[in-house]
Amino acid sequence: MPTFRAGVDLGATKIQAVVVGPDHAVVGQARHPTPTEGGPPAVTAAIARAVEEAAGSAGVAVEELGGAGVGSPGAVDHDSGMVAHARNLPDWEEPFPLAAALADALDCPVRIDNDVQVAVLGELELGAGRPYSSFLGVWWGTGVGGGIVLDRKLWLGRGAAGEIGHMVVKRGGARCPCGRRGCLEAYAGRGAMERRARELHDRGHKTDLFHLMEKRGRERLTSGVWAAALDREDRMAEDLIHRAVAALGAGIASAMNLLDVEAVVIGGGLGTRLGEPYVERIAKAMQPHLFVDDRPPAMLPAALGDLGGAIGASLLFEV
Ligand SMILES: [Zn+2]
Repeated sequence: MPTFRAGVDLGATKIQAVVVGPDHAVVGQARHPTPTEGGPPAVTAAIARAVEEAAGSAGVAVEELGGAGVGSPGAVDHDSGMVAHARNLPDWEEPFPLAAALADALDCPVRIDNDVQVAVLGELELGAGRPYSSFLGVWWGTGVGGGIVLDRKLWLGRGAAGEIGHMVVKRGGARCPCGRRGCLEAYAGRGAMERRARELHDRGHKTDLFHLMEKRGRERLTSGVWAAALDREDRMAEDLIHRAVAALGAGIASAMNLLDVEAVVIGGGLGTRLGEPYVERIAKAMQPHLFVDDRPPAMLPAALGDLGGAIGASLLFEV
């Protein structure tokens, strides 16, 4: 049984690769920007380079890897290793055989699953979810993803379970990136929040958000930009984050009323960056919507941090 495995978190802006040892400890890592052109072949090549570099930093030859797991955005078919509709990746609409192409490039077995599901799997096995038999993972980032753990297993439904970001928190409400109206993600997703901030800014509302973005050489309102704006008490940032927290409270409480799980684990780019104080604010925002309000769930930030998605992906080779 090979001792080392690789895990990759394929994100819209960065590719994070780790190599883990037998006890799941991270022994090597590498982070590369996600290519913005060149389509799936360019992304596959960049993933292969990141894995090779992570292995190199661990002093492990790629041939020694027992496998590489990848958490991917888009519509992921675990069994066929195909990825389609990855709209945050360059020219990636049609199905592409990512597992097969990457296995060719690395000459080792590759398994692929949904990015949020593998991150939640990581929290289940190694992170904040370890003490619980049931919990809900809420990944607060560019979008709002989720994972449901019941009896220590991910509940996948027919393959699309856990899409808490598209629970309706306001009928006929704000337009969601998915095209529907009133979804949680329309209020709390970083993408939707940025769109709203730009609209308000264009209409003359004052904010330091875009100034902070430029100062950091960014083209997007990253989690770091939001955190910096909150630090300096930027009014628009505070209002939009407050709106996001209120929507998360309503959406997560509704999910609790349905599932009655023991805990809620908050992860994702924004969730991880804003951390504990915001987990507490979400808990407060949930309270008025909880049907059984004297037994709220345990509320926890994800424990594996920035590397959580990649570490979770390495668990795809846990057999
Ligand atoms: Zn939606």
